[in-house]
Amino acid sequence: MLNKRETLIVISGPSGSGKSTLVKEVLSLYGPEKMGTLVSYTSRPPRRSEKEGCEYHFVSKEQFLFLKEKNFFAEWTYVYENYYGTSIEQINKHWNEGRTIIKDFDLQGADAIKKIYPQALRVFIHPPSLEELKNRVYNRQENEKKDIEIRMEQAKEEIKQASYFDYQLKNANISDTVGRLKKIIEEYLEKA
Ligand code: 5GP
Repeated sequence: MLNKRETLIVISGPSGSGKSTLVKEVLSLYGPEKMGTLVSYTSRPPRRSEKEGCEYHFVSKEQFLFLKEKNFFAEWTYVYENYYGTSIEQINKHWNEGRTIIKDFDLQGADAIKKIYPQALRVFIHPPSLEELKNRVYNRQENEKKDIEIRMEQAKEEIKQASYFDYQLKNANISDTVGRLKKIIEEYLEKA
């Protein structure tokens, strides 16, 4: 069945809260016919585990700004000293092919998306604690020390804004969080 409802699930929360793992879990739960994500464009260099076209399209700052000027992005942000943006074309493709979209955004992006697509469901993911968050960000190892500090400072600010979201989930145990997120999604899709 075609998804004429243009459903979109926005996952936000501090760096290291587990957003991208949750997105991956939800994608595999629903399968590629029903659920899709967006491969954003970023000027951030790839982490060792990341591949072009999988987690992101990796572009230079100049290329990013060129695309921005061409109105290529539905929304874009500058966070942790890099650009990130979502392509309008990818959003429309998913909807035309009947899929719900799930994607992680920074807080500014979550806001921007809600303004453009008011039907979007927004879920904020909390880490179990700030201490655990620091361990997760630190354990990625590929983040430089300065980047870790920026991400930790930003996390404290972001958590203050969690109450503006439709739902908040604490991500202590991934399978437990996926279960709770699934219930929220089911309810959203039923009403959409
Ligand atoms: P990371 O560098 O950890 O992959 O991502 C940094 C932040 O950018 C995360 O909060 C992530 O959710 C967010 N992000 C990733 N893609 C986009 C996007 O297309 N737009 C916006 N606004 N934020 C994004």
